[in-house]
Amino acid sequence: MRTDVLGVAFDDVTLDEAVDRALAMLEEDGPHMVATPNPEIVQRAKKDREFAGILAQADLVIPDGVGVVYAAKILGRPLKGRVPGIDFASALMGRMAGTGRRLYLLGAAPGVAEQAAVNLRAKYPGLVVCGAHDGFFQDDASPAAAIKAARADVVFVCLGVPKQEKWIAAHGREAGARLYVGLGGSLDVFAGRVERAPESFQRLGLEWLHRLIKEPSRIGRMAKLPLFLVSAAGARLTGKQ
Ligand code: UDP
Repeated sequence: MRTDVLGVAFDDVTLDEAVDRALAMLEEDGPHMVATPNPEIVQRAKKDREFAGILAQADLVIPDGVGVVYAAKILGRPLKGRVPGIDFASALMGRMAGTGRRLYLLGAAPGVAEQAAVNLRAKYPGLVVCGAHDGFFQDDASPAAAIKAARADVVFVCLGVPKQEKWIAAHGREAGARLYVGLGGSLDVFAGRVERAPESFQRLGLEWLHRLIKEPSRIGRMAKLPLFLVSAAGARLTGKQ
């Protein structure tokens, strides 16, 4: 049973449970999809039916961000906690290292995925990063062919939302991997181009605040968070959940 938060169904899992489920998916033929929606993405799914349909079909949907956890609580269906996509990806790489499972990195500006590969191989000894491709391709099929040739098991797809989920839905099967994870701007962090919030911010669930300080132009996008919580309260009060 999934937990509905304003139209998107989330899996109520801890970080460890999420990684266990992802590893189990690697034992079966693919493609499987892990999605990591935050409040902004839930709002987007309301307006984009194709995207909402893709999220509904995803094999694992984890709450990336404290806003989803608050909204679930307001709705009277509390989740165990937030599972930030980047933490999920890091834990998954830690568990993949030394197993021979092959990771492919897709997305971000030219050179970023390659730099992320170098950093991740150093951080997780024994991790096989079998290839990388930037996220600004003209022909949608070209990364799929490269992923297939690299014989990837897992692909981190970092093209931004909803492009990454739509790409996975359209090309996941032909690219041949078993598991695809949509991870937004994570490659910029793994490559050291964007700094992640200090741990004190992370612990308090204030990563969004750190990001706003670093990238003030995001204010428009983030201003939607209070509205998101208000719509959760409205849904609870009116019973239209
Ligand atoms: N990006 C990409 N191809 C595109 C558009 C964006 O690879 O056509 C990358 C961009 O360089 C960045 C990531 O996708 O690394 C999106 O990051 P953002 O933080 O905006 O993601 P989100 O907020 O959607 O998680």
